Amino acid sequence: MNVYLDNAATTKMDKEVVESMLPYFTDIFGNVSSVHTFGRKGIEAVDKARKEIALLIGGSSNEIYFTSGGTESDNWALEGVSRKFIGKKKHIITTVMEHPAVINTAKVLENNGFEVTYLNIDKNGLINLDELKSAINEQTFLVSVMMVNNETGVIQPIKEIGEICRKNGILFHTDAVQAFPYRKINVVDENIDMMSCSAHKFHGPKGIGFLYIKNGLIIDNLLNGGHQERGMRPGTTNTAGIVGMAKALNTTVAEMEKNNEKILNLREKFIKSVIDNIPNCHINGDIDKAVCGIVNICFENIKSASMVNALDLEGIAVSAGSACVAGSVKSSYVIKALSGSDSDAESSVRFSFDKYNMPNQIDYVIEKLCEIVKNMRKTTNLFKIINTEGKFI
Ligand SMILES: *Cc1c(COP(=O)(O)O)cnc(C)c1O
Repeated sequence: MNVYLDNAATTKMDKEVVESMLPYFTDIFGNVSSVHTFGRKGIEAVDKARKEIALLIGGSSNEIYFTSGGTESDNWALEGVSRKFIGKKKHIITTVMEHPAVINTAKVLENNGFEVTYLNIDKNGLINLDELKSAINEQTFLVSVMMVNNETGVIQPIKEIGEICRKNGILFHTDAVQAFPYRKINVVDENIDMMSCSAHKFHGPKGIGFLYIKNGLIIDNLLNGGHQERGMRPGTTNTAGIVGMAKALNTTVAEMEKNNEKILNLREKFIKSVIDNIPNCHINGDIDKAVCGIVNICFENIKSASMVNALDLEGIAVSAGSACVAGSVKSSYVIKALSGSDSDAESSVRFSFDKYNMPNQIDYVIEKLCEIVKNMRKTTNLFKIINTEGKFI
């Protein structure tokens, strides 16, 4: 059996999304910047998509800027704003749990004379609002806190963070890439000035996303080129990608309630079976504050990298930490920050569910998981005996 439980890394595209995109590769392929009919048909589709996406997040069309995805949106938000503040203010606040697209941009800004505070997270996976308040000083111009953490699924108090920023005259960016497909967003209610989203996390295509930039806020361009996206983000418009993203987001929001109920049931079944059958494991972060699709579990005395491989041999896809970290040997810096423990970080595995998962898949995963944990712990204990005796058996 093949079971995909790595939906926080990327999702399968909906068939209807693929179908909605196809005409824009073949018949309606014109460059939307062209004045002829081939181009104009594309413009209509892009305008419609922009309107739909804006409506679904509570914004307006002229606040949506299409990008190549979450990474570009995060880079653009942080760097684009920071450049406007050169010679004026120099302090940024973010968190230790951000995606590398934010953390590594913050590092670059630090190397260029900006000062960055990285807020810690508690064992529930949450930042502390009092710590945020006391980190603010007269130099602070930007706060960037992710909406949903990609490793634990924990939702941060976005509205409250936005309120604190507004009161202090500070801009607020949120990386909301993991929020859809599980959580609704309203940029106005939640006091958001800038927000990053990416289609491939909600059953849309890879390589397309958007940055929401609140009306009136002007940030620097990252790219230099043509006049696309009102001169803010040059590059030939990805018509098919934009159409696919709008289709995927429409479906996501329309089916959210129904799918969330299904996904939550699957996850609860999964968690209960793990807790009932596998001793010495615990959930990382406050599961009641997490989106329904993600759970991160620490299996004591197990190396998560080995577990990921062992599950893969059984046809099960999961991840140790985030995809971007998993490619290297580094363990999860998010779980390290949350638990304060290197061994917890090295023994934690993320399971992320979607609307396509079925209850019988959960039964299969539990069966394999129990076998794998038992075998691995036997091996670990064996090595302990060899080590303390100082000889081979
Ligand atoms: C996946 C992800 C990104 C990167 O988005 P891409 O579209 O893959 O570049 C950024 N932030 C978070 C929280 C993510 O999960």
